[in-house]
Amino acid sequence: MSYDIIIIGGGPAGLACARDAAEKGMKAIVLERKKSIGRKVCAGGITWNGLIQKLPGYVAEKKFFSQYLYSQFQQAKITSKTPIIATVNRELLGLHMAEKAVSKGAEIRTSCMVKEIDKNAVTVFNTGNGKTERIRYTYLVGADGSSSTVRRYLGIPVSLSGVGINYQIPGDFSKMQWHLDGSLFGNGYGWVFPHGATVSVGAYADAKIIKPVLLKNNLLKWSGRNRFNLSGYKAHAEFINYDYRGYRFNNIFLAGDAAGLASGLTGEGIYPAIISGEAIAENIVNPDNPLAEFSRLIAMHGKHKRLASITGKNRFIGAILSEVIVFGLRTGLVRFDKMEMAN
Ligand SMILES: Cc1cc2nc3c(=O)[nH]c(=O)nc-3n(C[C@H](O)[C@H](O)[C@H](O)COP(=O)(O)OP(=O)(O)OC[C@H]3O[C@@H](n4cnc5c(N)ncnc54)[C@H](O)[C@@H]3O)c2cc1C
Repeated sequence: MSYDIIIIGGGPAGLACARDAAEKGMKAIVLERKKSIGRKVCAGGITWNGLIQKLPGYVAEKKFFSQYLYSQFQQAKITSKTPIIATVNRELLGLHMAEKAVSKGAEIRTSCMVKEIDKNAVTVFNTGNGKTERIRYTYLVGADGSSSTVRRYLGIPVSLSGVGINYQIPGDFSKMQWHLDGSLFGNGYGWVFPHGATVSVGAYADAKIIKPVLLKNNLLKWSGRNRFNLSGYKAHAEFINYDYRGYRFNNIFLAGDAAGLASGLTGEGIYPAIISGEAIAENIVNPDNPLAEFSRLIAMHGKHKRLASITGKNRFIGAILSEVIVFGLRTGLVRFDKMEMAN
C-alpha cells in the first residue's frame, strides 16, 4: 500500500496537515497510536488571535474576557471586549479536526503505532489486531509530539524542553488565573484554567531549571496555599519540546511539538501545531509560497526562545521577569496579547 503523504500522529498538527493535504488532492493518511483521536495532557487554552475565532463554538468550554495574573508581590487584571482565551476540550477539538480531514478525503487509522521508518516506507503495528504492515510514502510528516520517532529517525536531538503538569479536577470556576511565582516555577507559571464542569490546575517550567519532581512538589505547595485540594487526583505530565531546528528535511517534515514549535516561555502549542501542519501541506504542493503566517510564527517562536533562555538561566532572573511582566501588564506598558504565539 502507498500514499502521497503519511502523517504520523493524530494531534492538531497531523490533523490540520491531513485536512489540507487531502483538500489539495493528495492521497493522505494519518496513523495514530491511540485508540481514539483527541485525548492529550493539556490545559486546553486557546487564544482569540490564534484559534477561538476559527473554531466552532461547541469546541470551547468556557470563554474568558478577563485574565488574572499574580506574581509574588503584585497582581494584574486584564480585560477585553473579545474573549482573550477560551478553554477547549481536547477530545472535541480532535474529533472536530478529524471530521474535517475525513470530509476532505483523508484516511485516519487509530491503534496504529509506527515502529520503524525508512527512506520510503514505515512499519506500523496495529495494537487492535496485532498485525504489522509496511506502508510506502512519497512524503512523510512527523506530527508525533514531543517524543517524536520521526525526529529521532532524522537524528535531530532535543536540547530545549519545558515540562507541563496537569491536574483535571471537578469544579465550576469562573476566573482564569496565571501565577508567575518565580520562587516556585522559575520563569514558568502555575495556572488555573476553568473548563465546563472541571478545572485544569497545573504548572509549566523549563525542564532544565526545575526538574519534574520538584515542579510537582512546588505545584502541590502552591495549590495548598490557594485552596485547591489535589490529593486523590492523578497528575499527568509531559515534556513540551521547544527546540525548533527546521521543518523540512528533503521529503520528510516535522510539525507541531515534533518540530519543537511550542512556546518555550508559555508552553502554548496548539496554535503552532495547526499552523505548521497547514504550512507543510501547502509547502509540498506550492514550494514557492512564502507561508506568511508560518513565518510569523517562527519569528515569534524565536523571540520566546530567546526570552526563555535569558530568564531561564536561574530562578532569580525568572522571578524578576515575573515581576516585570505583571508590572507591565498592570500599568498597560505590556499587552497580554503580545505574548501570544499568534502575534
Ligand atoms: C500539561 C500541558 C498543558 C498544556 N497546555 C496547553 C494550553 O493550554 N494551550 C496550548 O496551546 N498548548 C498547551 N500545551 C501544549 C499542547 O498540548 C501541544 O503543544 C500540542 O498538543 C501539540 O500538538 P501536536 O499535534 O504537535 O502533538 P500532540 O498533540 O502531542 O499529538 C501527537 C500525536 O502523535 C501520536 N503519536 C506519537 N508517536 C506515535 C507513533 N509512533 N505512531 C503513531 N502515533 C504516534 C500521539 O499519540 C499523539 O496523539 C500543553 C502541554 C502540556 C503537557
